[in-house]
Amino acid sequence: MTENSNTAIQKFKENGVRLVACTLVDNAGVTRVKCVPIDRLASAAQFGIGLSTVFAVFAVDDHITASPGYDTPSGDMRLIPDLAAMVELSGAPGWAWAPVDQYDQDLNVMPICQRSLLKRLVDTAAAQGITFKTAFEIEFTLLTANDEPVHDGPGYSPIALLPLEGFAVEVVTTLEEQGIQVAQFHPEYSMGQVEMSFGALGPVAAADQHVLARTTIRRVAARHGFKTAFAPLVLEGAVGNGCHLHFSAWQAGQNLITNGDGPEGLTPTGEALAAGVLTHLRDLVAVYAPSVLSYSRLLPDHWSGGFTCWGHENREAAIRLIKGTAGSRDRAANMELKTIDHTANPYLAMAMLLGSALDGLERGLNLPQPLQINPSSLSEAEREANQVYRLPVDLGQAIDRLAQSDFARQTMGDAQFEAFLASRQLEWDSYGQMDQAQLTETLRWRYG
Ligand code: GLU
Ligand code: MG
Repeated sequence: MTENSNTAIQKFKENGVRLVACTLVDNAGVTRVKCVPIDRLASAAQFGIGLSTVFAVFAVDDHITASPGYDTPSGDMRLIPDLAAMVELSGAPGWAWAPVDQYDQDLNVMPICQRSLLKRLVDTAAAQGITFKTAFEIEFTLLTANDEPVHDGPGYSPIALLPLEGFAVEVVTTLEEQGIQVAQFHPEYSMGQVEMSFGALGPVAAADQHVLARTTIRRVAARHGFKTAFAPLVLEGAVGNGCHLHFSAWQAGQNLITNGDGPEGLTPTGEALAAGVLTHLRDLVAVYAPSVLSYSRLLPDHWSGGFTCWGHENREAAIRLIKGTAGSRDRAANMELKTIDHTANPYLAMAMLLGSALDGLERGLNLPQPLQINPSSLSEAEREANQVYRLPVDLGQAIDRLAQSDFARQTMGDAQFEAFLASRQLEWDSYGQMDQAQLTETLRWRYG
């Protein structure tokens, strides 16, 4: 423990913090928590908090499978809270929150620590002079105690906003008090659906903030009598909840997504990074959309990014280029990966996004032509000619593609790759045959 950490802990204590909720997100995309009293935090930060190693192979329903190294009830990992990322909670007196990294008992980083994987990829990018700015843009569904949507539309209307007004003010205030910069709030297209977006941050901070934002939203919503569902589909037949991931890449203070000679004004480096993300997309759908339920959302004509293509402001493309408004482009230009939903582990998904971008750079990949029309309107032959492919249509297909990706295996490392696949396989075996009504009923409260 450094003197700085002790001072930080002391300050939290003086502010009235009694308990610290320490969270990780597992391979099923479920957030798990262990809490320590503030007086135990210094010890936890040094020696960790115990948790079984089989959390690597948990499924969304808390059933447990096995993968090499994670196949017995013996084994303990140590969760080390990151004190630099710790936040005092607003509206939850006595509470603070901190994300953890997963270590073994010899204090080596566990190979299944998704947050540490992300840190390594951030460092790999930094060694090449590249930094990423990232932000999750989240959709979720608010239901009443009777499971009725809190608004019936029209989407984006003041009519739909009315029952949300009190919640909106309180949630924005609470998030801001916790240091989260809220960019926008609106009632979304689907019944009971809300969208919020946030200011861009470095990848680890953005993933941390994503975890904190979702638990905060749930807490504030509960105070208004609302239940919060982050599942990709909450109401049968409705439009789903996305969790789009915005990213820009920077080098020597320059945004690589704008002011370049490449297609649509990308710089050559920006193009290669984006091409890497697009090239690996089909293989990584199991990472970005890892639930059986994800495929009830990831449909053509749903603005959910179900095809491998990119385009300027094309909301049906998996990667939407956002150039920004004149005057703001240097700062604002970014890419949006639309395929991703809330069942993704934000650390793992972000790590694989960075990894694929860096692979694109290393291989000097180029983008195909940008697509400005709806990819579902193209014939099979036209899609083939434009390298536009439908993404896997169910988790089984997505698992098959991921299992064959050497790139994914190498980037994640064998242990994480096998553990992740095993946990996906268990869910596919358990829920692959369930109809949509049962699936939404079973899974809608498990995420976020
Ligand atoms: N609800 C859509 C999705 O599932 C996104 C709609 C939008 O572009 O905001 O991703
Ligand atoms: Mg939206």
